[in-house]
Amino acid sequence: MRSKFGLIILICLIIGLVVFVFMPRMKKYSESQLLMGTIVEVAVCYDSRTEDKVQDTVDHVWSKLHEISNSMSLQVADSDVVKLNLASPKSVKCSPETYSLLKKAKYFSEITKGAFDVTVAPSIALWKKGSIENVLPNSKEIDNISRFVGSEHIQILPSNYARLLERNASIDLGGIAKGFAVDEASNIFREQGFKNFLIDAGGDIYVGGKNCKNKKWRIGIRDPKDKSRVTHAVELTDAAVTTSGDYERYFEIQGKRYSHIIDPRTGYPQKGVVSATVIAPNAVMADALSTSLCVLNVNQGTALIDALGSEVASFTLLKKGEELEEYVSRNYEKMRVKLESFSKTDY
Ligand code: ADP
Ligand code: MG
Repeated sequence: MRSKFGLIILICLIIGLVVFVFMPRMKKYSESQLLMGTIVEVAVCYDSRTEDKVQDTVDHVWSKLHEISNSMSLQVADSDVVKLNLASPKSVKCSPETYSLLKKAKYFSEITKGAFDVTVAPSIALWKKGSIENVLPNSKEIDNISRFVGSEHIQILPSNYARLLERNASIDLGGIAKGFAVDEASNIFREQGFKNFLIDAGGDIYVGGKNCKNKKWRIGIRDPKDKSRVTHAVELTDAAVTTSGDYERYFEIQGKRYSHIIDPRTGYPQKGVVSATVIAPNAVMADALSTSLCVLNVNQGTALIDALGSEVASFTLLKKGEELEEYVSRNYEKMRVKLESFSKTDY
């Protein structure tokens, strides 16, 4: 009886060993490029069964990212955004991607009650001009522009057409385009049968499945006071994490720094929030909401995140004198991991 039991254990061990030895191993393939004004990294896990498709899929991802970047850039002469801005109030046929993103932008403007608004472009242009000329915009200029700002100026028409109803209105998709590009790239990986991957567009990150060591992806959130340090870390699967803040990009006028995120409701750069991190099921949502949290009052912003369901969470750092105060949403702690267990080499 005893020897029979021993034999069964031995057979199980041998089967386990055989499975372990012959199981396809996951390897990581990654590439990075300078795109959308930042370093974009894509990493994908593959095994012997998917090895042949890796390079083609990664190439496909890059071409999609370039395509989106071109159609949503303010710097590309014939981008959809430039065409819409120049044609207003006439309509323009957009790419299906721009069309879909315009609809999403209007949605985020609605749920944030105007804290997120891509029609903030004329205010951004005013502060940009101020930084070039080193002259602070005056309150009259700021007020004059405010009537061109508001998502009601964007009209979505059938068959991929859209228009800006107000002649002087213009849009800037900088607060949402990277997130959208990351989501489109994720779709390509999935369509090609890759479940485990990471796309990082300068801090707008989406992680699919698990990392190449078969563990949940761990992402570090940088310390705004010391960018070489990580202040928090989160553990995610099939989720996006995005950080917005006033510490990397800003306008400088007469020696003072002003945030590149403008409150569309006032026309002035946001103040107070140093950085806002949002975790969400997709990168568009995380991107739009992290920009919004920089604008909203911290309690209102956190309440909005809580109302969006169990997969959405936030971590906001607010300046209080010389100190930074942390605000976390209800679901944040369950996604957080101890810093000691985080290592940049995790993925
Ligand atoms: P980053 O580009 O640094 O990751 P964000 O995602 O927060 O940061 O986007 C900031 C950009 O969004 C700005 O540079 C500008 O193009 C645009 N923007 C600024 N303020 C707003 C706003 N209130 N709503 C929507 N877009 C904004
Ligand atoms: Mg954003």
